[in-house]
Amino acid sequence: MLEIKNLHARVNPEEGEAKAILKGVDLTVPAGEVHAIMGPNGCGKSTLSYVLAGHEGYEVTDGSVSFLGEEMGELEPEERAAKGLFLSFQYPVEIPGVPTLTFLKEAANAQLKARGEGEISAPEFMKFARENAAKLGISSEMLKRPVNVGFSGGEKKRMEIFQAMMLSPKFLILDETDSGLDIDALRVVADGVNALRSPERGMLVITHYQRLLEYLKPDVVHVMADGRIVKTGGPELALELEAEGYEKFTGAAA
Ligand code: ADP
Ligand code: MG
Ligand code: MG
Repeated sequence: MLEIKNLHARVNPEEGEAKAILKGVDLTVPAGEVHAIMGPNGCGKSTLSYVLAGHEGYEVTDGSVSFLGEEMGELEPEERAAKGLFLSFQYPVEIPGVPTLTFLKEAANAQLKARGEGEISAPEFMKFARENAAKLGISSEMLKRPVNVGFSGGEKKRMEIFQAMMLSPKFLILDETDSGLDIDALRVVADGVNALRSPERGMLVITHYQRLLEYLKPDVVHVMADGRIVKTGGPELALELEAEGYEKFTGAAA
């Protein structure tokens, strides 16, 4: 479903020092699987998710990304979203004045339009929203509040998963960068990812929380170090990392 080959990327020279960050990432995620990427701070995890999103701050210098058999090349973030790629951080963190549901309805309709499909009707959208909100324990009062404004960490996570449910993406990328997540918030993410599992959907969860993977039970775990995937294994790899740290993968101990 998602196939990344020999991906090299650097900071866009127009935006800063053109430093190479991704140095040959190879990664394949088939439909129906949840893959986790773990790795030490600064190894390039967030850069990978930005590059997959088509963020203009980064430049691909070599390699390729294909999604559902199609090269992503220079596609804009909105074009990628229209093809069914969901990135949690693509949706603004806080938008004062815009009720969450209004925002999501516009986002959903923009994607449908880009795919050449008709708009979702208001009653249909409301029904789908109520169903998903109920699954996540989100109150109708929370849906009326402006996007993410004044939400707690756990509420923001709940909303992120809700956004994903409402946009029915084919592929989800979650970058769990927030270091302030408590156990409840981690559980929200894990339960949400598990609820979104489907044979047609692939997911990539980037994290440095061993804890998250305990709840999430990914099918495959990848270790990233210095801009590359250096090891791939099953869930046991996460346990190994917790016990032994990243040194043996980064060479820092040598
Ligand atoms: P991770 O998410 O694994 O912690 P990042 O992808 O955020 O790592 O960062 C990888 C490296 O690239 C770090 O050294 C970081 O400082 C650097 N980096 C990322 N984005 C930029 C940028 N826009 N400008 C300069 N350096 C950057
Ligand atoms: Mg970081
Ligand atoms: Mg990061």
